[in-house]
Parts: sequence; C-alpha cells; structure tokens
Amino acid sequence: MARFTYEQRFELFKLRLVPTLAMNASQPQPPDVSLTDFQAKIRDMYLEKDLQRGVDGTFMWLMEEVGELASALREGTAEEQAGEFADVIAWLATIANIVGIDLGQAIQSKYGTGCPGCSRLVCTCPMDEKP
Ligand SMILES: [Zn+2]
Repeated sequence: MARFTYEQRFELFKLRLVPTLAMNASQPQPPDVSLTDFQAKIRDMYLEKDLQRGVDGTFMWLMEEVGELASALREGTAEEQAGEFADVIAWLATIANIVGIDLGQAIQSKYGTGCPGCSRLVCTCPMDEKP
C-alpha cells in the first residue's frame, strides 16, 4: 500500500476514505460501532479479568498501548496505526468498565453540545489554551 502523508490522509479522512485504507481491501466494510456498544463488547469479553487486574494494572496497559501508538504514528503503516488506535480505545474502555463509567454518556455530557471551553461546535478557544 502506498504511504500517505498525514496531510494526504486527512484529506482522505474528510472524504471518509480512510477506513478503506486501514483495512485489507478484500474484507468488507465494518459496521459503524458506537462507543457504548464497543464498551459493552469489551465488558462482555474481559470484565472478569479486568476486575481482577484492577485500575492500576490496567492503567499501565493503557500507557503501554499509548507508547505503541506513539511508535506507530512515527514509523508505522496505516494498518499498524489503526490497530494501535483500537488498542488504546479498548484499554480506555476497560478502565471505564472497572470504575463504572459509561464512555458514550461521558462524552455526550462533556462534548455533545460543543467545545467544553467555548461551547461552540467549531472551537474558538485561543491556541495556547488546552481545547
Ligand atoms: Zn473551544
């Protein structure tokens, strides 16, 4: 597969073409997955193990996956980057399951009506502020 710059991939992303780049072309397109459904799937697959490991141990796995995402962003293929994004979200969902936070609800509550800093749908916060 051809390598794209981040700028080229962003243009493709805006056209919603990135998922086809990140997958094997012979596989069908996956259905859209809601964060709530994904978190439930992770809960069904792993909750017992996750509860035994606990927040601290699971947080370490999340940090390891964040490091792997950093490496993939520096020198990985689009497929490798996609896999690392999936792993980071999975471990984040795992921690949310352990502490009983509904990620979909949390995101809707915080970002559903716009930027938490300026309340606009297209952020107008100054560049030196966090949002
Ligand atoms: Zn803002």
